[in-house]
Amino acid sequence: MSHRILLLGAPGAGKGTQSKKLAAEYGIEHVTTGDALRANKDMETEYGTPRSFMDAGELVPDPVVNEIVNAALKEADGFVLDGYPRNLSQAEYLSEITDLDAVIFLDVSEEELVGRLTGRRMDPETGEIYHVEFNWPEDEEIQERLVQREDDKEDTVRERLRVYRENTEPVIEHFRERGDLIEVDGEAAPDTVFERLTDVIEG
Ligand code: ADP
Ligand code: ADP
Repeated sequence: MSHRILLLGAPGAGKGTQSKKLAAEYGIEHVTTGDALRANKDMETEYGTPRSFMDAGELVPDPVVNEIVNAALKEADGFVLDGYPRNLSQAEYLSEITDLDAVIFLDVSEEELVGRLTGRRMDPETGEIYHVEFNWPEDEEIQERLVQREDDKEDTVRERLRVYRENTEPVIEHFRERGDLIEVDGEAAPDTVFERLTDVIEG
């Protein structure tokens, strides 16, 4: 069974949702640069704070992100990596620090992505990911504390998708050319997508 899993996909493809489930299923770490950066948004670095890049939908500079991933992977026995690498130079760095058992691309069309991102809501207490239409909690107490990420407003969403096409699609192409990429259709209910993922991981 594969225990070092890379989950690639556009913003909104469902990487966070599925990574949490995979981590629980296999007892591995969920390593996500997005969450790590959000927890350290105002950390001073020689490039400025992560916030200045994130709120604009731009990539945080590679040295900052590489350092986070290096530290997290060192501590993890098995992992599902989500949100990294986002450009070819990060992909190069990753290949120097670890070997992967499975590289999976969660494929979702651009029309679907915008609706998923603008409707996303986060639970600040648990980190759980919700959606106003596709995954709304029944518990009113949870409903009331949900927040929208600053970068999930429509203008920033468009910029993030542009940054994805420019920087991250070449990473997907790179793995595809190496013959390593497992493509999974991410346009179905979350449970169906999860089954597709466990099938390819265990298959
Ligand atoms: P999503 O889940 O919608 O794809 P993330 O939570 O992964 O979004 O990322 C949010 C923001 O954090 C990105 O827009 C970017 O500013 C920053 N970020 C996350 N991962 C990386 C990375 N690997 N390299 C550079 N910036 C990153
Ligand atoms: P990513 O980490 O790739 O940016 P998320 O897992 O945060 O994506 O999902 C983005 C939004 O789409 C969230 O609001 C989530 O609840 C919703 N979502 C995730 N998977 C699905 C799915 N299969 N169908 C519909 N909505 C989904």
